[in-house]
Amino acid sequence: MHLQRIFFLLPLLLALLLGVSCNEKTNENSSKQDNKLLHIVTTTGMIGDAVKNVVKDKAKISSLMGPGVDPHLYKATQGDLKVLTDADLIFYNGLLLEGKMEGILEKMGKAKPVQAVSTDIPQNKLLVLNAGTAKKGKVHHDPHIWFDVTLWQKAVQKIADVMQKQDPDNADFYAKNTENYLSTLQKLHTDIKQKMATIPKKQRVLITSHDAFSYFGKAYDIEVKGLQGVSTVSAYGLKDVTNMVDFVIDRKIKALFVESSVSSKSIEAVLEGCKKRKHPTKLGGTLFADAMGEAGTPEGTYIGMVNHNVNRIWEALK
Ligand SMILES: [Zn+2]
Repeated sequence: MHLQRIFFLLPLLLALLLGVSCNEKTNENSSKQDNKLLHIVTTTGMIGDAVKNVVKDKAKISSLMGPGVDPHLYKATQGDLKVLTDADLIFYNGLLLEGKMEGILEKMGKAKPVQAVSTDIPQNKLLVLNAGTAKKGKVHHDPHIWFDVTLWQKAVQKIADVMQKQDPDNADFYAKNTENYLSTLQKLHTDIKQKMATIPKKQRVLITSHDAFSYFGKAYDIEVKGLQGVSTVSAYGLKDVTNMVDFVIDRKIKALFVESSVSSKSIEAVLEGCKKRKHPTKLGGTLFADAMGEAGTPEGTYIGMVNHNVNRIWEALK
């Protein structure tokens, strides 16, 4: 009887053991054999996810900014400095998304390849920031490129190009992975377009705390209004809140949204203002703007994050 029981438990034990060792490999990547792997460091999780889809298990990937982290305000920690110093290759967004890390990225660039993933996006596809937020004489572009899936495809292709050059032994492998991933993204792009088009045009307005969704709005034909400007560094004022309340009431907007990486205070102030004036608007949910969700959840990937947002927006505005 005991023997039978052991036989019964054996597959379970094996599965557990295998499960543990697999987890260790994907999460930590710190085992001996991984020492030979290229170590790639990315700033945001979205870039880390793009790299992962290109290189799969051929490199160790670390992303500095986890769930809920605001890249506009992020400063490299002592721990980050060590990770960046140990890296073979660094990918960042660019277009001043990582505004407080410019200096350190520039310094790292003297010792190893440091690549902005946004560099191959044609200038005419980039949104120019308004004169108020751009510094004198210099054109600044909106850095939130990941919310137009076609622009993100350019970022993925850039990563692939760099990887093929840096690691020619695996170039074919990277090319194949990239081709597959780009076609998945193409389908995602078409799906979002179709879904958004089913929301009546008049109700297709996305109001959030900061202007992270301008590319999304342009690509998927939805009007976008943010309270805080493109960077979360700039604050919002009482006048912004009042104007937004007027707008929401005037246009009979059904729902407003908060973001996972930005304080919800400003949107709550607008909701409060609408309530006082008896306009029934509600919170449409939390969107992932500048950071993905927790690792291991669907929203912990780029595609999952985008789908989450699209579903929330559709549910609340349709
Ligand atoms: Zn942002």
